[in-house]
Amino acid sequence: MTNGVQPSERETRNAQRVTIGVLAVQGDFAEHAAMLRRADPAVVVREVRTPKDLAGLDGLIVPGGESTTMGKLLVAYGLEEPIKSAAQAGLPVWGTCAGMILLAREIIGGAPDGRIGLMDLTVQRNAFGRQIDSFETDLAFKGLEHPIHAVFIRAPLVERVGPEAEALATLPDGRVVAARQGHLLATAFHPELTPDTSLHALFIRSCQQSAISHQESSRRSLVS
Ligand code: GLN
Repeated sequence: MTNGVQPSERETRNAQRVTIGVLAVQGDFAEHAAMLRRADPAVVVREVRTPKDLAGLDGLIVPGGESTTMGKLLVAYGLEEPIKSAAQAGLPVWGTCAGMILLAREIIGGAPDGRIGLMDLTVQRNAFGRQIDSFETDLAFKGLEHPIHAVFIRAPLVERVGPEAEALATLPDGRVVAARQGHLLATAFHPELTPDTSLHALFIRSCQQSAISHQESSRRSLVS
């Protein structure tokens, strides 16, 4: 996400303008919106409820909640196909918990309707059983220098990471709980429920870099 190179002045100016959407049909979208604002007050945060809310976004968060309900609402509001096409065209999308379920290609334990289904992952819903269906732990996360505090609530687990995706965080027993695939990011836990804004900051940076590269490629196509 960050390559360690200092951004140019133009990049910094452009970077301040990113607009990040938070899917707001169900689940803890308000917490994500607050975390984005805390991570970077220059980010414009937009709640997404209809296809027109997707126009001009530089990134989208699909929050935690209940994936069956959220998927049904995606279909009912006509959001399923527009989100999928935007993600296929390169829009950075980050799914947390239920959002991870909606991003995965294969689901064990009941595939919801209205899935985005683009990440090369097999995800097990409600993977932690009744006794420990909610728990918290500290995890190393690829791309961050310090461990993060991870809150799992009736969380899914990544059973298989396909060749197009890569694991970013694992539990001590090796089970995968975060993955990325290019501009798509999935976490089984809820970073929006801790005070630590580092993962939101990481996602904002990936949205800024993607916005800059889109602007540069459209500028190049104008002059060529
Ligand atoms: N168990 C929920 C589901 O299957 C996800 C829980 C969450 O997002 N915290 O959709």
